[in-house]
Amino acid sequence: MYVIFLGAPGAGKGTQAAEVAKELKLAHIATGDMFRDAQKKGTALGLKAKEYMEKGKLVPDEITVAMLLERIAAPDCRQGVIFDGFPRTLAQTEALDKSLVKQSKAIDKVIFIKVAEEELLTRLSGRWICRQCQTPYHEVTSPPKIKGKCDRCSGELYQRDDDKPTTIKERLKVFFAQTAPLIDYYTRTGKLVEVNGVGTVEEVQKGILNALKRRSAGRK
Ligand code: ADP
Ligand code: ZN
Repeated sequence: MYVIFLGAPGAGKGTQAAEVAKELKLAHIATGDMFRDAQKKGTALGLKAKEYMEKGKLVPDEITVAMLLERIAAPDCRQGVIFDGFPRTLAQTEALDKSLVKQSKAIDKVIFIKVAEEELLTRLSGRWICRQCQTPYHEVTSPPKIKGKCDRCSGELYQRDDDKPTTIKERLKVFFAQTAPLIDYYTRTGKLVEVNGVGTVEEVQKGILNALKRRSAGRK
C-alpha cells in the first residue's frame, strides 16, 4: 500500500505517519526528516536544503525528487510506504506517479489531515521535538512530564530552527500556495480522504486507520 499523508505544517503528519507506518508495517518516508538528517551530517545536500528550510521555502523539486526516488528504491519500501511531507508540489506529484507507474505501482490513497489555520499557528509556535524519537510536545497543550525531556525515551527536546514566528508564517503561506492544489488533484483522481486533525493523537489515528480501510469515494 502506498499512501500519502497530506497536511499543512503542524497538522500532525509526522506523528501520525510514524505510528500508522509501524501499525501497518509500511516504510515511513519523511522528506523533512531526511533533509534535517543530511544537515546534521553536514553533507552537500544538507547544506543546500538548509538555505531554503531556514527561510520556510521549499527545497527545489529537482533536489527533493532525486533524493526521494533514491529512497523509494530501497528494499524496505517494497511492502509499501507512507509518504510524509512529499509530494508538496504538482511537479513532485508527477515525478512520483511516473516512477511508481514504471514499477507497476500507484498511490492507493491520500490522507488529508485537516486542521484550521489558526490552530496550526498555535501548534507550531510552542513546539518542542525529541532529538531521538522525534515525538513532538507543546509548551501549553501537551508539555512533557519533565521539562526539556522526552516522556518516551528521555531524549533531549529542542525547537526546530524553522519554528520561529516569521518562518512559520512563510511555511503556511507556501503550503496554501504550492501544496494545497494537490488536494484538488487527488480529489479528482478519487484518492483523497479527508480526516479531522483536531483531537487527541489516538482519535486522529483512529480516523486515519478507518479512512485507510474505507474505499475512497469516486475511485476511477
Ligand atoms: P512541516 O510539514 O512542519 O513544514 P517538514 O519536516 O515536513 O515539516 O518540512 C520542513 C522543511 O523541509 C520544509 O519547510 C521544506 O523547506 C523542506 N521540505 C520537506 N519536504 C519537502 C518537499 N517535499 N519539497 C520541498 N521541500 C521540502
Ligand atoms: Zn523521545
